[in-house]
Amino acid sequence: GTPKYSGMVEDCCCDYEIVDRLHKEVLYPSLQELVKTSFFRYFKAKLWCVCPFWPDDGMCRLRDCSVCECPENEFPESFKKPNRLPLNDLVCQEGKPEAAVDRTLDSKAFRGWPEIDNPWTNDDETDNESKMANHRNEMTYVNLQLNPERYTGYTGPSARRIWDAVYSENCPKYLSQESCQEEKILYKLISGLHSSISVHIAADYLLDEATNMWGQNLTMMYDRVLQYPDRVRNLYFTFLFVLRAVTKAADYLEQAEYNTSNPNEDLKTQSFIKQLLYNPKLQAACPVPFDEAKLWKGQSGPELKQKIQHQFRNISALMDCVGCEKCRLWGKLQVLGLGTALKILFSDDDQQNLGQTLQLQRNEVIALMNLLNRLSESVKFVHEMGPTAERISEGH
Ligand code: FAD
Repeated sequence: GTPKYSGMVEDCCCDYEIVDRLHKEVLYPSLQELVKTSFFRYFKAKLWCVCPFWPDDGMCRLRDCSVCECPENEFPESFKKPNRLPLNDLVCQEGKPEAAVDRTLDSKAFRGWPEIDNPWTNDDETDNESKMANHRNEMTYVNLQLNPERYTGYTGPSARRIWDAVYSENCPKYLSQESCQEEKILYKLISGLHSSISVHIAADYLLDEATNMWGQNLTMMYDRVLQYPDRVRNLYFTFLFVLRAVTKAADYLEQAEYNTSNPNEDLKTQSFIKQLLYNPKLQAACPVPFDEAKLWKGQSGPELKQKIQHQFRNISALMDCVGCEKCRLWGKLQVLGLGTALKILFSDDDQQNLGQTLQLQRNEVIALMNLLNRLSESVKFVHEMGPTAERISEGH
């Protein structure tokens, strides 16, 4: 194990050893099964990038990087020749096979759930602007199993700019003493997600382009995540936060319809959900993975919540600027998943009656469970491979 991490996960109600054990015995196996079901493996996303920031040099405006095959004359000259990014960044990430999204799927797999806005996200399906740009409004259904989150080659100023904006524009005070607990939580969620993305890149890396050999890159995991214990802690924190949202919404999730027009498959989905949500081991060892009741207590609670909601929506909007299609897919999914967790934990409604008042879109439920699974994979990888990675990298 990683003895470095022991005791209670900061701001959570569960300790590292318990998380690792529970995880191995209960959570990881059932999540792995769950995300393979047809209900959970199809995600609906608007993958066209309509980046509201950096309009003139957005890399995702490059024609070859776009998802839709638009006629070239639709693109203003300035989009074709962005002049602010350095030349080496003009190599279109989406021209790389590993960055492209595989769209092979069964078109009947997706049926409607209620479409209710989430105040935490910017998944502007009904946004006026996107309505006008009709082809850009198109939703794509993606089979997530065919598109694992892994190394895509997306890097350089374009990727850096997104992360910088996510951190500096949206959680500017995270390091200062004044920053209140709620803002720290937003920072930790983003940092935990970032760790998880880095872990997936390192766990499934293109080691040799010539022979198309994929494998683990433990040095990279060390360089990007393990050498910063905070990033590991934030990963555990984010995992527990999302787990808490899922268990809090258990009654809702249990009663939800997992309808894919395949009764056998749907029964299976339902039973995986139950296995996960009402697991006696989980309830005994970690009944409340995160205690949200203590937040937003101060006088400025409502105001603060609005502010953080606004910040999170900005982060969500930034996902449209991610210049690599597969990264955009997972970025959007995971931010929607976090937004869903925030909605479950911090909805204004009477928390006692959450089961009656909570309403989630189908896509939100899919994002939430897939996010939890991604975080769970990262926790497992860090726990199992962390010590080896540290040994290699610290040179003993
Ligand atoms: P980056 O990961 O870009 O980090 C930038 C800076 O952020 C670091 O220098 C550090 O100061 C800070 N930082 C890093 N990690 C943390 C943390 N956990 N907590 C707090 N601060 C941190 N690439 C892929 O290959 N596959 C993908 O699926 C993929 N998905 C992406 C999704 C999104 C939304 C974005 C924005 C990028 C994605 N990328 C993906 C790119 C990838 O995340 C990196 O940006 C890229 O690999 C370059 O890495 P880097 O080492 O320069 O550091």
